[in-house]
Amino acid sequence: MTLALSAQGLRPLAGCSPTPFIARIREQGDVPERAPEREVLLLSDPAGRPVPLGYRGYLLRQDVSEWNGFQVAYVLAPELHYLAEGDVVRIHPARRELSVLYRRASPSNSLLVTERCDNLRLMCSQPPRKQDDSWLVDELMDLIPLISPETRELGITGGEPGLLGERLILLLEQLKQWLPRTGVHVLTNGRRFSSPDFARAVGRVEHPDLMLGVPLYSDLTEEHDYVVQARGAFDETVRGILNLKRARVRVELRFVIHAQTYARLPMFAEFVSRNLRFVDHVALMGLELMGFAKTNLRLLWVDALDYQRELSEAVRTLDRAGLSTSLYNHQLCTLPAELHAFARRSISDWKNTYADECGGCQKRDMCGGFFASSSLRRSRGIRPFLG
Ligand code: SF4
Repeated sequence: MTLALSAQGLRPLAGCSPTPFIARIREQGDVPERAPEREVLLLSDPAGRPVPLGYRGYLLRQDVSEWNGFQVAYVLAPELHYLAEGDVVRIHPARRELSVLYRRASPSNSLLVTERCDNLRLMCSQPPRKQDDSWLVDELMDLIPLISPETRELGITGGEPGLLGERLILLLEQLKQWLPRTGVHVLTNGRRFSSPDFARAVGRVEHPDLMLGVPLYSDLTEEHDYVVQARGAFDETVRGILNLKRARVRVELRFVIHAQTYARLPMFAEFVSRNLRFVDHVALMGLELMGFAKTNLRLLWVDALDYQRELSEAVRTLDRAGLSTSLYNHQLCTLPAELHAFARRSISDWKNTYADECGGCQKRDMCGGFFASSSLRRSRGIRPFLG
């Protein structure tokens, strides 16, 4: 989940300051836990009991006719009633807006660190913006101590996190300090790590469970550079991968399959198994129809049924080379049976859907289903597995 799901769902009552702030939600407890200025109390039945004092604010699931004017309170719109203990939100009273930054119950929280990027991928799901958004990292430094230490994994996304330079290192250190048991997965184009010093700085953090996911879209320089629309990107990305591995940082290669890349899947797998055999994981990924991928749909769309041969060959090559290999974002019914063992349920819970055909499918529990955006185009191979 995340990337700030905003809702114009707040009605401030008396006492609200216009300044935005972030806070962790509590539903139980009479007094704030650790940081009163960073906690809000969520009340389902505000009229029914005395309100404990000391919170930064109060979120009310029900409207009230009278409220103690000394305490800051906001009435939540019904679409925000799912909020629960441990979630972290940004409240913007002047805009009557609440953004969800972290959901404790979600297995797929991501932290957006910047919207700037030095690539312009044909299929970028979050097209870059140019403005200074360094406030995002300032806010994340405050957010991280509020996240549950039991969180299994956090994603770091952009834009391009590598553009943060030294601030990315500070962010990783903050994650290590506050969430030492939480795996961190950074999505990066890898180019900035062509600087050995920067790659070594990431290694020196010695985060106990860090993986950098780096996309490589071809074994050919010109094809990768075309997909990311940046000359010289292939060379920088490959040097970045080598530097990261030298610095003992775990690296996952990510290859997005579409009409401009699928034909070279077998050659890409050969290239990786010969030259990058030391990477920790290879993910071969179906296309998410968001952002530029939607705009460039005619250029990019290819049915998974039409690249089964190339995909099978690539997976066999990677697997034979001993590389840990996964297929992301593919429906099982569009894959040959020999690939089912490699398919993962990879789509984040908040954008995962199933089609009508999936209702009676016996493999539904093993199948990752669809992106919500897939309604634009679906494989002609969607058929339930029946007994
Ligand atoms: S019918 Fe639906 S649940 Fe079954 S394999 Fe296909 S996409 Fe998955």
